[in-house]
Amino acid sequence: MAHVPTLDLVSQSDNEVRGDPHLSTLLDAFCLKNGLVVIAGSGISTSAGIPTFRTKDGLFVQLKQTYRLKCSGEDLFSADVFKFPDRAAAFLDMIRQLYGQCKEAEPTPFHLLLQSIAREGRLLRLYTQNIDGLDTRLKELSTTVPLTATNNAWPLTIQLHGSVEFMQCEKCTSVVSLSPWAHGEDDLPNCTGDCAQDRRRHDMRIQLRPAVPGRLRPRISLYNEEPYDSQAISRVIDHDTNILSPGPVIVVGTTLKVPGACQLVRNLAKKAKANGSPVIWIAPDRPSSNLKGLFTLIVLAQADTIAAKVLARTAKTAWDIHSLLDWRQNPDDLERMQILVRWPPVGGEEYAPSYAEEDAIQEGSPELLYQFWSDRGGRTEAIIQKYPSLNGRLMFHVFKIRDQIQSRYQVQWVGYSDQEMTWESAEYMHQVAPECVLAYQEKRNI
Ligand SMILES: [Zn+2]
Repeated sequence: MAHVPTLDLVSQSDNEVRGDPHLSTLLDAFCLKNGLVVIAGSGISTSAGIPTFRTKDGLFVQLKQTYRLKCSGEDLFSADVFKFPDRAAAFLDMIRQLYGQCKEAEPTPFHLLLQSIAREGRLLRLYTQNIDGLDTRLKELSTTVPLTATNNAWPLTIQLHGSVEFMQCEKCTSVVSLSPWAHGEDDLPNCTGDCAQDRRRHDMRIQLRPAVPGRLRPRISLYNEEPYDSQAISRVIDHDTNILSPGPVIVVGTTLKVPGACQLVRNLAKKAKANGSPVIWIAPDRPSSNLKGLFTLIVLAQADTIAAKVLARTAKTAWDIHSLLDWRQNPDDLERMQILVRWPPVGGEEYAPSYAEEDAIQEGSPELLYQFWSDRGGRTEAIIQKYPSLNGRLMFHVFKIRDQIQSRYQVQWVGYSDQEMTWESAEYMHQVAPECVLAYQEKRNI
């Protein structure tokens, strides 16, 4: 039997794994490689306090007692849950609780790691089995609901099992926010979308018996039914596997018990291995035996442990920039700039220059960036000259909040040094850069 290398960060100390080549493989995959594909499960959200409701100590056990249910946890997530009033009530109660908990929760260190990799343009795709929306609320990891391509590009995050943030009509597939129901009546609301429009037309013209409008239900894929967005998801998987060239494939925080997710990993893993890229398992427990042969490296660890290790390493080496060569508008976000970076060789391996996001460079090598703009007559002047159509105001983005006096924040801007900070009202900052306010408050609390 082929032996799969294992890095055990649960029982081994930092000292014991120091210098372990498998640790380098793992960190290289996160820090250096392009085209990262991540398949994530509930393990990346547990530290945010999101209950793992399908496990034996999860939310389900509480509900089972409250509603005196005789069914299993799987039954509660089965498509016929609505046929049984007691199960339906428990299911809907659970979704409501979950919705509230997700709204309260903050993204975990692992989410923020994915965000920073996405910002650097190195994340090819995040396939998430999570319905909590902690990933997709980060701008860099956003998605579309229903899943659609924009300008021929699929969103970076693909929600495999739907989301607790939306409801969909059973009849006309209209999608609405779940929020009003979560704060309102217990009963599932009727649709006011296309099917309700049809009813009005019927009433007026043909005098048919009025059609009954569809019922809205949480847009969460259940067992024994076709998952939401399944056709679009198949197209993305096909695109990622056959057209794009997947780099490292990372499976994190999941047992990979759902057959669809398992097949997805098999397809991507095959292509990644053909490309010479690693296929890495990250979870506190080993993969089950039916996944034998799938992974090139097994890492036993909590997701956040990996995030901490990657961030520690990034701070030291990844922004070891040789020089900054050129710049352009970000093709996906014309208001933001990207800088062409020449990287130093790593372990004797040369890397081609590549574009990186300006704020990522500012984070790692601020002085280089300020000098880069200074050499070009100043950032504001350079941008106005090169992209005159860009409204002067739109080129400014908050880099970090540095200080606070009462209801005003001291703001440092992307591409500008701390010599050019300004004071802005808290109200304005909450509006334009809530994530920066959050980051500042978190830092203050530590
Ligand atoms: Zn409808």
